[in-house]
Amino acid sequence: MTIDISSFLETVADEVKDKEVPVVDLIAVQTRDPFKVLVATILSARTKDETTAKASKKLFNLAPDRKALDRLEEDHIAKLIYPVGFYKNKAGYLAKLSSALEEFGGDVPDTIEELITLPGVGRKTANLVVSVAFQKPAICVDTHVHRILNIWEYVQTDTPLKTEMALRKKLPKKHWITVNSILVAFGQSICRPISPHCDICSLAGKCPQNGVKPRKVPGKKRDKSQPLKFISWNVNGIRALEKKGFIDILSDLDADIVGIQETKAQPDQLSEELKNIPGYTSYWHSAKKKGYSGVAFYTRHTPLAVHEGLGEEEFDSEGRVLTLEFDTYYLINIYFPNSGDKLKRLDFKLRFNNTLLTFARTIGRKKDVILCGDFNVAHKEIDLKNPKNNVKHAGFTPEERAWMDSFIEAGFTDTFRIYNQEPDQYSWWSYRFNARAKNVGWRIDYFCVDESARKKVQNAAILQEVTGSDHCPVQLEYLAR
Ligand code: SF4
Repeated sequence: MTIDISSFLETVADEVKDKEVPVVDLIAVQTRDPFKVLVATILSARTKDETTAKASKKLFNLAPDRKALDRLEEDHIAKLIYPVGFYKNKAGYLAKLSSALEEFGGDVPDTIEELITLPGVGRKTANLVVSVAFQKPAICVDTHVHRILNIWEYVQTDTPLKTEMALRKKLPKKHWITVNSILVAFGQSICRPISPHCDICSLAGKCPQNGVKPRKVPGKKRDKSQPLKFISWNVNGIRALEKKGFIDILSDLDADIVGIQETKAQPDQLSEELKNIPGYTSYWHSAKKKGYSGVAFYTRHTPLAVHEGLGEEEFDSEGRVLTLEFDTYYLINIYFPNSGDKLKRLDFKLRFNNTLLTFARTIGRKKDVILCGDFNVAHKEIDLKNPKNNVKHAGFTPEERAWMDSFIEAGFTDTFRIYNQEPDQYSWWSYRFNARAKNVGWRIDYFCVDESARKKVQNAAILQEVTGSDHCPVQLEYLAR
């Protein structure tokens, strides 16, 4: 299908005209200051607009220009811009920005080639600064632009850089400056990365919807012939993730049940918004120690019963296991212990693992069993980037991998590997060394099923595009009968 790009972009521009203007555009209009546009653009990478706006305001109060920024210590910048994504790295870039700008007489340069020599400035940032701050033709291709133009089959590319190059050849120049802000607003509101809202989109019927799985229409009764969608996600602190948009992300995920791990919160530390997300009932099992471990479920379906823990105080005091019981199956949400520094907790972990296995096998005599969570182990060499270097490290020791072997031998299936035998499929990346961008990661988050549940598995996936934690969610589609 060939689309009329001008007509599509005009329709979308009309559709998003009442939506919030992306923060970088807003700063450009309000300040007409390339320095502020540049700084806000650096802050905005992998960060919600609302958070970028607050961080920019705090920073510009103390550092409205290059010289003032130069007087701030890196630690102070980090405190001012927290909690933008990668705030420590960005503080480092901003601490060096002033001296880097001296190269250009203290001014922000207006070409992509010059801008990309500055710390923390990649091609996407440079294009945005050129188009927004200087109103010069440049095409900023972020993930929304890249994704949506591939959905429309206007380009067929696998990286934002290739999209930019393709657009330079075919996109009419009149759209270059505006395409980013239009598609970012559209991608954040309607054509969302997960479960786009095609049911309310003005382009429905004309759009090729390449590779799209539209959301289920809210309020529509579940079709029982369709599989349930389960998600598991180590959120690494639910209160921190709430500030990065967890409630919107949960709505986008459009799952029947979401199990989260490492909530790091007691129920009395949770906001009412987090406990009562519309359409879901939540259940929490927290550790006794504050700010540590913890698991929870959000479910659209009322369980017959909810079971906390494994019945052993040494494990249950750490809030690691929560089970929902339904008519035909149990869904167990688990945050497995980490073997720890110098493997100090390896024995504890192996005891936990064996207790968990006994628990799953016992309840499995009555109904199907699905286990999800952060298993804190990469099972095989294919499941991490650098297996050779990690043989003695927590999460890849022979003991932990042997337990995983015994778990599989006991009849459980790692559902992801039914569908995907490829390397480089990870669910966790260190926050250090830009590991996620380089895809230097580990696959340690799983959906596993017992033999009887195995027949009902319809699909399994890793949702690497979902950010906000050092883990990404994993997904199972399951036909409950
Ligand atoms: S119809 Fe769906 S996929 Fe196409 S542009 Fe609209 S929301 Fe996106």
